[in-house]
Amino acid sequence: MSDLNNRYQAILKELEQNIQNEEELQFVKDKFNDLSMMFMDVIDRLTALTDMRIKSIEKTQQEMEHRMEKVQRAVDDIQSDIYEDEENYEFEITCPYCNHQFTTDIDAEFNTEVECPECHNTIELDWNDEEEIGCGSNCSHCASPCGVQEEEEDYETETQEVENNEQVDDEDM
Ligand SMILES: [Zn+2]
Repeated sequence: MSDLNNRYQAILKELEQNIQNEEELQFVKDKFNDLSMMFMDVIDRLTALTDMRIKSIEKTQQEMEHRMEKVQRAVDDIQSDIYEDEENYEFEITCPYCNHQFTTDIDAEFNTEVECPECHNTIELDWNDEEEIGCGSNCSHCASPCGVQEEEEDYETETQEVENNEQVDDEDM
């Protein structure tokens, strides 16, 4: 700023040296001053506008950060829910060798056998048998139980429809 002021003073000095007539010099100095004030005003307005924009950007940024925090909290909640589910994924197992009952954390995708903590025999876990129950297809294993289930579902739907009709009749009376 002081450099700018020095240059301003230098220009004024040049005007004084080159304009001999006192009245003319004063007139030019006044106009020069008016011009300077105009530029100062423009600079002030631009500065204020820039400040406003920066504040607006900062506000938007704060809102974004707030939203990001909310999303992060939601993600954390979901993650902890999933993690808890995994931790509580326990099975109660009765050892076929010593009849000792124990619970164990099992990941069905990977664990196919577990060691008994009492007799230390390896117990094989056959997940496939459970998965085949109620497969819904016409396989030889469960074609008839699946068929029975389908008939039961149809019967339930029919009774629901009858109940609905009765309700309509009641409303008419
Ligand atoms: Zn055992």
